[in-house]
Amino acid sequence: MSGFRAPKGTFDLLPPRSAVVTTVREGLAAPVRRAGYAYIETPTFEDTGLFARGVGESTDIVSKEMYTFTTRGGQSVTLRPEGTAGVLRAVLEHGLHRGALPVKVWYSGSFYRYERPQAGRFRHFSQVGAEALGVEDPVVDAELVVLAADAYRDLGLSEVRLLLNSLGCQDCRPAYRARLQAFLHGLDLDEETRRRVDINPLRVLDDKRPEVQAQLGDAPLVSDALCAACQAHHATVQELLADASVAWDDAPRLVRGLDYYTRTTFEFVHDGLGAQSAVGGGGRYDGLSEQIDGPPLPGVGWALGVDRTVLALAAEGVAVPDPHRVEVFAIPLGAQAERQLFGIVTALRRIGVAADIAYGGRSVKGAMKAADRSGARYALVLGERDLAAGAVQLKNLDSGQQWPLPIEEAVALVEAELTTPSFSGTEESAR
Ligand code: AMP
Repeated sequence: MSGFRAPKGTFDLLPPRSAVVTTVREGLAAPVRRAGYAYIETPTFEDTGLFARGVGESTDIVSKEMYTFTTRGGQSVTLRPEGTAGVLRAVLEHGLHRGALPVKVWYSGSFYRYERPQAGRFRHFSQVGAEALGVEDPVVDAELVVLAADAYRDLGLSEVRLLLNSLGCQDCRPAYRARLQAFLHGLDLDEETRRRVDINPLRVLDDKRPEVQAQLGDAPLVSDALCAACQAHHATVQELLADASVAWDDAPRLVRGLDYYTRTTFEFVHDGLGAQSAVGGGGRYDGLSEQIDGPPLPGVGWALGVDRTVLALAAEGVAVPDPHRVEVFAIPLGAQAERQLFGIVTALRRIGVAADIAYGGRSVKGAMKAADRSGARYALVLGERDLAAGAVQLKNLDSGQQWPLPIEEAVALVEAELTTPSFSGTEESAR
């Protein structure tokens, strides 16, 4: 060990677990990629003001959890704590919103929050996100929720629950907010929470402390205060989810940790994860563009937590296949065999077969162990006697069966065996 360790709240992603993470990342993104969302990448740090204005001053994220520093040039920048604000900034900066709408994009990357680390909660974590900008149509809200639900299902998770709410719009929310504030002012709350009641009373509904929750039983619910347009929007989202066989629980107190949400708000939770049960979430944010000095530009999006999805798979005992696992492992015995097999391995790789080779003149035993560790289904063994006979031994590592292939045809025959397994050669040649 060196004198250094990974910073608190972070972790290194090492093989073999790292393969699960890349598969999960690809799995979470696959449904949106099939639905016309294009990849977008934005910087991992942004002007601090973007998050302060975009995410909201009253949120824990902005008030307590940002990694903010001053650059040598004197500018205050912040490691991104979430993805939506940066994506919207980029869309506005480059005028994508002036083209065909909606702008549908997806991203994948690292995010940073100075939280108290615990199981499933890190200071450096990974999300896959998707955003659809420029249309108010509830079909887009439903599309995104369905695509997230499909992503979890396709990965093999069966215990993810969807919590669904509507937070109203700029027409109906102010009246609700005033009613909620009046209610909250009558409660026994500490100084900081009282301040929060004044800045963003909805956030108080999200307070996890039992002494606060105990007083919220009679709090007015936003679902009872929606205007006709918000009711209709929400009803359409619900109909479309039902049509798509996506089940949900109504969650009239769900507000989530970011201030920008309007109308549709949702969270995916997994009950096998303990306190940090949210595996993903999102919603509509129709006023966010104006908050960062942009034109009116409605939007809806989500972010799915990669790390917690990996934990959820482990909690359900789902084995995640590694599509990039090596299929063929080559074992040369001697320098000349190494040169021959290196050529065959290179040719296999070039036609798309994942292949690896034992290096540095290992013993047969050591090389067989390496082949087992690689997860390969087949070993290609080339020894002195084989070389003289112009053959290479193909061994099925599951069955132990082994048979010779002519070196000249080895690449084609290995490929054929991989597509149509159980080829065992002729009776005479099978050993
Ligand atoms: P949010 O951006 O807060 O809506 O979070 C979306 C998803 O990202 C959550 O549902 C989690 O799965 C994941 N996530 C958020 N914060 C963390 C964290 N500190 N550590 C690990 N995952 C996180």
